[in-house]
Amino acid sequence: MIKFIFALILLSIPLLAPAQTFEKSVLITPPKEKDSRYFYVPFDVPEKSKSLTISYEYDKKGGANVLDLGVFDGTETNVKNFRGWSGGRRNTIFIAENSATNGYIAGKIPAGNWRVILGLYKVAPEGVEVKITVRFNEIDAAAQQQLNDEKAKTFDFPKSPKVAPATANGYTWFRGDLHAHTFYSDGNWTVKGLLDFAENSNLDFIGITEHNTFAHHAELDALAKNYKNLLVLRGEEVTTYGGHFNVWGLPKNELIDFRVAPKDANRLQTIVDGVHRLGLIASLNHPTALCGGCDWSYGDWQKMDAVEIWNGAWDLEDEAALKKWDELLQNNFRLTAIGSSDTHSAPLNGNANGRAVGVPTTHVGMKKLTQTELLAAIKNGRVWISDNPAVYNLEFSAFASKNKFVIGETVSNPTNSIKFDCQAKNFPVGSTVSLISDGKVLLKETVENVHSAFAKNFDVQKNSYFRLEVRSETGAMLAFTNPIYIQSKR
Ligand SMILES: [Zn+2]
Ligand SMILES: [Zn+2]
Repeated sequence: MIKFIFALILLSIPLLAPAQTFEKSVLITPPKEKDSRYFYVPFDVPEKSKSLTISYEYDKKGGANVLDLGVFDGTETNVKNFRGWSGGRRNTIFIAENSATNGYIAGKIPAGNWRVILGLYKVAPEGVEVKITVRFNEIDAAAQQQLNDEKAKTFDFPKSPKVAPATANGYTWFRGDLHAHTFYSDGNWTVKGLLDFAENSNLDFIGITEHNTFAHHAELDALAKNYKNLLVLRGEEVTTYGGHFNVWGLPKNELIDFRVAPKDANRLQTIVDGVHRLGLIASLNHPTALCGGCDWSYGDWQKMDAVEIWNGAWDLEDEAALKKWDELLQNNFRLTAIGSSDTHSAPLNGNANGRAVGVPTTHVGMKKLTQTELLAAIKNGRVWISDNPAVYNLEFSAFASKNKFVIGETVSNPTNSIKFDCQAKNFPVGSTVSLISDGKVLLKETVENVHSAFAKNFDVQKNSYFRLEVRSETGAMLAFTNPIYIQSKR
């Protein structure tokens, strides 16, 4: 009997602050054209909370309703209160002092008024009822298990031989991939798996660009030290419902606000101005992709610093992006083209959706591999792109008035003809190298002996650009350069 009373007393002493629950159902109607696409649900976090679990439920109606989830630990108007984002990936997430669901930021749980943010990706015409549950001082067991499983995932792949980056025309052409996703957003890579794969693939730099979160920064910084030959950049894929863009080299735990309504070009510009104030650049992603909200709705591409013309395996969307980019060049706009894998999972164990890091690869001409040089070289267009990191080499330069010009540079007021020099190395026999200017192919050479080289003079009397493309026998893109530009008074 005494034992029983003792046990009762023990059971009645709470080990933690008592678990409490917040529940609310909200009805969301479809946003109109200029309406905000974000819906906030405030809730109060009690004093001395150590953790919280947030769940949301709604009828997906076969994909007619798609709602994203995120959290602020104070008012939503201050991005410093941002505590994470999981898009539409997870129904239940937790945030605790020492750990959090991937995509969310672990740390102190301040008492006070927090916000659940719902991103209205798709809302059925009749609206959707969403039930939100927040449990305080409770880590959901399934969410904890999911985190454990994600952290434990390993990636095995065969070792590749080392290939040094090419040097040409006074620069080392470092190779990288600036668009990749891990478990911290909607990818199925660990950060370590991705960095290992990148290093093994002969990449020299990599950007990990999670959708709308910086939750990966801490692990990225901790691991980056182990990769002496790999420049690792903190990135964000700023993911709006009217297009996506990448920012690389962010300060630790810096969020670029993603809350802009589709077509709101002014608000988008304000966000891009903020990126520039950080000394960084903004690069438009997959501008012609047809995923519903992936294609660019904010008007002129040329307001960005770069554009991802090549996303994953070369396809018709890339072809459309290339066509539009070339039209911009014809209208005297300059915008650096890049390419990236946008990998979300490893191309291992028969995973058909897997994408290798570095397919395609962005080759950037630099004297030294640093983040500052990398961003400046991309801004200046000293970039060519190929479908793999280590096989092909493409060199392109121009001679005018006894000076040499490389990809991205401008020949000003040429007095004599300009000599364009091309060297295409290690491309398959039968592939073609084309010199393109003002939307026209000026010269097309077939690769007959692995290496192909030509030099040809042109008299250029107007503002113009010259760029190279190498395509396979079937027309698939193997590599292309950014232009050498001509500025002429004549
Ligand atoms: Zn995207
Ligand atoms: Zn992406």
